[in-house]
Amino acid sequence: MNDLAPARQAVALTGAGISIDSGIPPFRGKGGLWERFDPMEIAHIDSFMRNPAMVWKVLVKDLKDIIDRARPNDGHKGLARLEQLGILKSVITQNIDGLHQMAGNTDVIEFHGTFAWQRCIQCERRIETSWVDASELPPRCTCGGILRPDAVFFGEMIPPAALWRSQEMASHCDVMLVVGTSAVVQPAASMPIIARQSGAVVIEINPEPTPLTGVISSYLIRGKAGDVMNRIVSALEIKR
Ligand code: NAD
Ligand code: ZN
Repeated sequence: MNDLAPARQAVALTGAGISIDSGIPPFRGKGGLWERFDPMEIAHIDSFMRNPAMVWKVLVKDLKDIIDRARPNDGHKGLARLEQLGILKSVITQNIDGLHQMAGNTDVIEFHGTFAWQRCIQCERRIETSWVDASELPPRCTCGGILRPDAVFFGEMIPPAALWRSQEMASHCDVMLVVGTSAVVQPAASMPIIARQSGAVVIEINPEPTPLTGVISSYLIRGKAGDVMNRIVSALEIKR
């Protein structure tokens, strides 16, 4: 808390772990999608291009139903509160679930794009996922082209604007909170390295250590994102 109380330019980097308590399964760890499928295989752009109907069936359709039902948990709400308190500037998220925006954070960089929109691979038209008729797979655009999530598949580039802004935020933050990410997916995992090199304090919130722990992060607060954020927010509110 001593590091966060005076911070005015804090940035959070979040991953699938923060959304687990909202009912969205992660890729790695217990209950993760890893256990059923190899995400590098199923969520790879080559798989999608080879067999879009199969990827829609096993990845997109299920995820669409889960994300439609998901609501922010105390982890997301805590980060929104840190923004209200004037401590947190931005959230860089690897998640595609839109829960940070729903919780109230106003500057969210969607590093891996979003699931809220689909995009035609032929004419690039975007359509809101809630409007997509998924009764026949893969769903198609009015032009006949296949619709794909407006998210980044493995094997694809990070949207340049998101990458550039994230690097910018990472190099100017005073504290970086790394919440619920296994920090193995690049280049997202290099944002804490940039932050550390630029003089920021890097704090991890995760039930498990990651490759950053003790090397890049100054310390790890072990626990679930929601529980830890509740403790942090209460302590900061008492200090004010
Ligand atoms: P990951 O699945 O690799 O790792 C999840 C991390 O969260 C682990 O380190 C785990 O120890 C931790 N964790 C587990 N429970 C937690 C809790 N309650 N609170 C805090 N942390 C907890 O996730 P990743 O690093 O984000 O990489 C996976 C990639 O898959 C991302 O790039 C993301 O784009 C995508 N993905 C997104 C979603 C989503 O949008 N919610 C879900 C699955 C995968
Ligand atoms: Zn089209």
